Amino acid sequence: MGTIGGFLLDLDGTCYLGERAIPGAPEFVARCRSAGKRILWVTNNCSRSASEYAAKLQRLGFTATPGDVFTSGEATLQLLRREAVDRVYLLGTPSLEREFRHAGIALTAEDPQRLVAAFDLGVTYEKLRVACRLARAGVPFIATHPDLNCPTEEGSIPDCGAICAFITAATGVSPRVVGKPHSGMAEAAARRLGLPPERVAMVGDRLYTDIRMAVENRMTGILVLTGETTRADLASSPVQPHRVVESLADLLGEER
Ligand SMILES: [Mg+2]
Repeated sequence: MGTIGGFLLDLDGTCYLGERAIPGAPEFVARCRSAGKRILWVTNNCSRSASEYAAKLQRLGFTATPGDVFTSGEATLQLLRREAVDRVYLLGTPSLEREFRHAGIALTAEDPQRLVAAFDLGVTYEKLRVACRLARAGVPFIATHPDLNCPTEEGSIPDCGAICAFITAATGVSPRVVGKPHSGMAEAAARRLGLPPERVAMVGDRLYTDIRMAVENRMTGILVLTGETTRADLASSPVQPHRVVESLADLLGEER
């Protein structure tokens, strides 16, 4: 790990499961920091804000500040800023709506410059009807992340990708997708660490988001088996990590 200057860490299935920290994960983060390695948590799940994730990480025994967490919602806001967008129709949680407003984006169904779909836990037929009208009228359509489902303690629940599939089925319009594994997310995360991608390792439990982002963007991809992926999935996957470990605990002692 000598050439690695920083780690991008996935949250669900990598650092915690529900309200339980994965054993060894808080210690791995602490040891990395004392060895001078940078840490940034990177998540596609933008139903909560960076501050809310930092509070959860602290509750589970990690040292974390809001600046240590990068969500697909924040990556989407960076994209909107670059494109000088300030009026959006958003399908998102109240927490994400607050983040957008705080960033100076007006949330409106009247003449928006972009249609943005996120992990909206309060989506309604009315919201979907308006979104479809806008997509059909040619308002550029953006998805914060591609995930079709989100793992929870009760099993999988429909995520942003499933909401987008509804809009695409009705209108024939597909979104431009922001979160992991897309290169925009990888570049923004590496920039946040202040490191070239070659010196960054991404540790995560999903092959088609975490590991695909790493291998397609010149980062080291380390798969943990504490979340979604099984050894059988790994054997049949076109996306292969650089390294496989049972859990973050297996990396203890290698942080130097
Ligand atoms: Mg995960």
